[in-house]
Amino acid sequence: MSSDSTASQRSVVRRTAWPESKTAPLVPPLCPSVVYVARDADEMNRVYEGEEAGFTYAREGNPNAELLAKKIAGLEAADACFITNSGMSACSAIALGLLKAGDHLVAGNQLYGRTHRLVSRELTRFGVQTDLVNASDSAAVEAAIRPNTRMILVEVVSNPLLRVADIEALGRIARTRGVLLAVDNTFPTPLVLRPLALGASLVIHSVTKMLAGHSDVTLGAVCSSREHAVAIRDTIVTWGLNASPFDCWLAERGMNTLELRVARATANAAALADFLAGHRAVHRVIYPGRPEHPDHAVARRLLGNQFGSMVSFELNGGRESVNRFMRALTSIPFAPTLGDVSTIVSHPAVTSHRGLTPAERESLGIREGLIRVSVGIEELALLKTEFRRALSD
Ligand SMILES: *Cc1c(COP(=O)(O)O)cnc(C)c1O
Repeated sequence: MSSDSTASQRSVVRRTAWPESKTAPLVPPLCPSVVYVARDADEMNRVYEGEEAGFTYAREGNPNAELLAKKIAGLEAADACFITNSGMSACSAIALGLLKAGDHLVAGNQLYGRTHRLVSRELTRFGVQTDLVNASDSAAVEAAIRPNTRMILVEVVSNPLLRVADIEALGRIARTRGVLLAVDNTFPTPLVLRPLALGASLVIHSVTKMLAGHSDVTLGAVCSSREHAVAIRDTIVTWGLNASPFDCWLAERGMNTLELRVARATANAAALADFLAGHRAVHRVIYPGRPEHPDHAVARRLLGNQFGSMVSFELNGGRESVNRFMRALTSIPFAPTLGDVSTIVSHPAVTSHRGLTPAERESLGIREGLIRVSVGIEELALLKTEFRRALSD
């Protein structure tokens, strides 16, 4: 056992050859490798130059991220899609990649909490001027445009009041005024709305939510027109916003059932909204599919009859009734997320909007009695039974 060749055969460090197989795996393999091996410098060079297909270093791109990106790009009808390690890093990627000091950004004033903070506190540190306006008022968005406005950033459906931005009108405004429209399409999903076809240049997703769908990955995606693809990719690779292959693998797997989950959750949400609207313990119901919703007409035109899986409602009696209701729920957890297969309730005043003063929350209409429901794919009868019981407790 002293010869060199025997020693090398015994080495546990040496990587054994991948087993050969004439047959290919049905399920995409998980590829955690950080690096890809080339035969020689010329071959590596051709891969770096894009003259030959292949990967070099995982942060620059890897098979699992590419597979997931292709799936999302197909749904959004996007020229390009890149996966990031969270919805927030998708947001960061478009800001870091396309804005510079002196540029002006017009953003919705009901953005997701951290996006709001990114726009109002982080980008301003880098010399980007920002204005926050009501995104469901297209005229207000247009009026905020200045000569140095580079981008409009909006969410299609706001949280938790579910206001709907008219992406079609904003797309027209962006095109005529020569500014970029970036749309957070997390709530509707690309099965319901494709902002790029309506004039948006960029679409971002928190893949963490409905796309992955099982609350076990944190991921984001940026879809872009061809024009901005290189800038977005370079930003993600340079600032290190790339995602783990395992998370991409899980999300890609979860997306196989996206269409079924969206259809079921949307139907459940519409039925639950109607049920809640008829309950005497409920002060008001917020759902874009209901005729009294302020953006119902826009939602109908934009989303067809798929008004989403989010329902908010306000209980008579404030925080005390909220606590009683939540304690009475047995199979529905209180947790600050959405888009899961199971129904989850949240309380905006103590979670997403806890950073605001009570007066600021009141002016937005986010009161202590307000509950947000991310409706899942359970049997509707089970949901109604659980809500009915908890409301009457
Ligand atoms: C959750 C969420 C984000 C942030 O996504 P993370 O994956 O949590 O980083 C951004 N926008 C919207 C609309 C969201 O719901």
